[in-house]
Amino acid sequence: MGEQIMERTHENGTLRLANVGEKVTLVGWVAKRRNLGSLVFIDLRDRSGIVQLTFDESIADAVKDVRNEYILQVTGTVEKRKDANPKIATGEIEIHVESVNIVNSAETAPITIADDTDTSEDTRLKYRYLDLRRSILQQNLILRHRVCMVARNVLDKQGFVEVETPILARSTPEGARDYLVPSRIYNGKFWALPQSPQIYKQLLMIGGMEKYFQIARCFRDEDLRADRQPEFTQIDIEMSFGDEDTIFAVVEDLMQNIFKETKNYTLEDHFVRIPWAECMRRFGSDKPDMRFGNEIQDITSVFENTEFQVFKNTIENGGIVNCVKFENAADKYSRKGLDQLQDFVKHGFKAKALAYLKMENDVLTGSIAKVLSEEEKAKLVEQLGLANNDLVLVIADNARIVQASLGALRVRLGHELNLIPTETTYKFLWVTDFPMFEYSEEDERWVAAHHPFTAPKEEDVDKLFTDPGHVSSRAYDLVLNGYELLSGSIRIHSQELQAKVFEAIGLSLEDAKARFGFFLDSFRYGTPPHGGVGIGLERLIMVLAGTDNIRDVVAFPTTNSSFDLMSEAPNVVDKKQLDILGIEISKQEK
Ligand code: ASP
Repeated sequence: MGEQIMERTHENGTLRLANVGEKVTLVGWVAKRRNLGSLVFIDLRDRSGIVQLTFDESIADAVKDVRNEYILQVTGTVEKRKDANPKIATGEIEIHVESVNIVNSAETAPITIADDTDTSEDTRLKYRYLDLRRSILQQNLILRHRVCMVARNVLDKQGFVEVETPILARSTPEGARDYLVPSRIYNGKFWALPQSPQIYKQLLMIGGMEKYFQIARCFRDEDLRADRQPEFTQIDIEMSFGDEDTIFAVVEDLMQNIFKETKNYTLEDHFVRIPWAECMRRFGSDKPDMRFGNEIQDITSVFENTEFQVFKNTIENGGIVNCVKFENAADKYSRKGLDQLQDFVKHGFKAKALAYLKMENDVLTGSIAKVLSEEEKAKLVEQLGLANNDLVLVIADNARIVQASLGALRVRLGHELNLIPTETTYKFLWVTDFPMFEYSEEDERWVAAHHPFTAPKEEDVDKLFTDPGHVSSRAYDLVLNGYELLSGSIRIHSQELQAKVFEAIGLSLEDAKARFGFFLDSFRYGTPPHGGVGIGLERLIMVLAGTDNIRDVVAFPTTNSSFDLMSEAPNVVDKKQLDILGIEISKQEK
């Protein structure tokens, strides 16, 4: 092995035709080697990319033992290639190597280190430090870094101050399960890792900080879904003396800068705002993908006097009939295809049935064409503006099932029919006026839909106990291309109202005092009106990077079942460590 003076004149991926004739010193990992007669070709990789090295007879012997992932330092001259490789940025040049220093050797890597690797994800997670050598992952981490830099700069310019809040903390009510940390000093007592810095950032407002942010780690012990990790990061923001407009302006400025800086994309004036109820009516979802239309349409009135029993019964029982139209799509869905859609809404969304209509040769056909009157059909053609080959999917049920089913069908057909434009179109939507409470069948009580510090709409305060299902809150989400990018709300800033909201979710004043006494107390000493947001950093990076795998944007992720395959965590600890904590294991997972 040669000496390890890591001088380099250039980064490998930056060399171009303009460098021809220059003498360069490069470092990096061997990505590939080929022998061609007495010539040796090596692709040398560093973080910036790959460059081809050529070793002629005079020096080929020096690299005869060099294999993939060896580290080399080479000096040579940049030359124009005879046959350019258009697939790589440095494809027009190569380095004619004059001297080589083998800096380190490497065993055969257990994974294929290439962007289109064929190694399974589990194996790649076990050897994450090798997986990270793939350019695609490095680019994602660099993108993530860039976004955080922009966030810090933009928020700093706006007068926000970054403040760190405790990781060892008391449980915060974001609705998920806490990760607990046993206390050694106070045996039998536990810290909870923060589900978000919610309480602390509100206390910072009470503490007079006025504008706070933090790139904050949050922990939620949930059964993981594909786009979740047990720990994740939020760009967490809170400000005093503002309202929805002030907070939205901060976030919009932030997004505009992030998209400009990382994508060179100017966000047009398209931060649309839609109240939750309208959003559910039009898109059947509180995080609709706004890149395409195909909105849900209410056709209940067409069937006011219908003879068709199914619709008649539904309407009599307070249900609705809604549909989504897909232009020019009738011939793309055969009976079999439509049966699959039927199964999809029956099993996924509890719909009783899916009906469909097709416009074929100026006649309305389909599963319910025979049972509808001519008048009803004519009304539908007119109201929906139907043209030949249009497909209409219809569901009659209670509003919740209708909206959820049609919302999901809208997205599914949006993908199947390629109605969603390519990744460079970004459509943001503020969903406002969320319901304050949701009924939990499991707990048989109302629970906070956002978190219990969210302010109810002033005009709904008197319904807190009499009609909690119809109380709207000042909570909002920002949705981007069908992803919930952030949640936030204007907070309660009066102690009485806070106590009432706790009571409305079944938390007696005593319980509330036991859990949040310090917080309730703080309200007594002049709490400014305040509000904020928590932006899901991983989601944002996923959209910017064009991936739907959250592990692509996290350096050291866990599997979907919350296990770190590389370090094999979580894992057992010594009995001695447990004794100090006063803990005995009563159930041990094999
Ligand atoms: N703490 C909230 C959350 O994590 C965000 C907020 O209300 O600011 O969703």
